[in-house]
Amino acid sequence: MNFTQELSAYFKERCLLAEPMSRHTTYQTGGPAEAYVYPQTDEEWSFVLKLARTENIPLRVIGFGSNILVGGKGIGGIVCSTKRMNQTSVQDNRVTAQAGAALDKVCELAALAGLAGMEKLSGIPGSIGGAVYMNAGAFGQETFDCLEYVQAVDFDGRPAVLLKKDLPHSYRRVDGLDGYIVLGAGFSLEKKDFASLVQTRNSILHKRIEKQPLEYPSAGSVFKRPAGDYASRLIDEAGLRGLSVGGAKVSEKHAGFIVNFNHATPEDIKTLMEEVRRQVKEKSGVELELEQILWGEFSV
Ligand SMILES: Cc1cc2nc3c(=O)[nH]c(=O)nc-3n(C[C@H](O)[C@H](O)[C@H](O)COP(=O)(O)OP(=O)(O)OC[C@H]3O[C@@H](n4cnc5c(N)ncnc54)[C@H](O)[C@@H]3O)c2cc1C
Repeated sequence: MNFTQELSAYFKERCLLAEPMSRHTTYQTGGPAEAYVYPQTDEEWSFVLKLARTENIPLRVIGFGSNILVGGKGIGGIVCSTKRMNQTSVQDNRVTAQAGAALDKVCELAALAGLAGMEKLSGIPGSIGGAVYMNAGAFGQETFDCLEYVQAVDFDGRPAVLLKKDLPHSYRRVDGLDGYIVLGAGFSLEKKDFASLVQTRNSILHKRIEKQPLEYPSAGSVFKRPAGDYASRLIDEAGLRGLSVGGAKVSEKHAGFIVNFNHATPEDIKTLMEEVRRQVKEKSGVELELEQILWGEFSV
């Protein structure tokens, strides 16, 4: 049996072959993953990790695909989704969540329980695993602010509990997680009046609707914030608002976003990203760094 047959036999309907990644990314475009599986238990993770290791198959983990652009030619190997691992719990001032729980749901849970520290992350459309991996943040709050520990497994299948102090982190960057798959996380929060937390959450959700082009598929901010500035300001200043390539466009509402406004191919989006970087560098001298992650093969 080859690896796709082994995965199909083991995961049954939780194994999809030649699965279009347009179904699993918020850009809603992207070529096929050779095998797309949903491991849920420790045994299932052990199985898929061992298979990948012994047969030398590339293995990637995806949460909600809200920060990934997949090339039109697709991805070889195995993509593991955490989407079906989504348990959460609250005890005293601690929230724990499995990797595939929605960050926004966890923010809501914390706010309703009168626990402060995550309310400003409301509306970020990622999973807990993705938020930890990227140190997602907004409005001056970051995932690592209240993170206590990460429950993980390494690519050799060894379980690990990583404490925040073991994971050096900064703006949208975490060191020390690259060899691991995040299975869950614990957050330590502060007790506060729940009504004020819910109010903050609602006002953040409202600001997102007001400022972000949520009516189109996107993967949020394309570039990281350069020191002392905003990528969107530089893009705007370079006159690139509304610039388009095929079905991809620099959002008119928020110049930091590229939106898939009309059946964009991944190559349209990638070409536009490169054009924006080139023109911003030419006009302001600043080299924008990509925040979004490119996976698989592109035809440009
Ligand atoms: C409309 C919109 C608004 C956004 N606003 C914000 C914002 O305000 N702030 C912000 O920080 N981001 C924002 N984002 C980007 C995105 O939501 C975050 O980066 C989020 O944390 C990504 O989570 P995800 O589950 O979608 O990760 P994915 O896109 O699925 O994966 C991103 C990376 O994390 C890795 N990963 C995912 N899960 C795991 C895991 N369990 N173990 C190990 N690695 C894993 C993947 O391999 C990949 O390298 C926005 C996106 C959109 C579409």
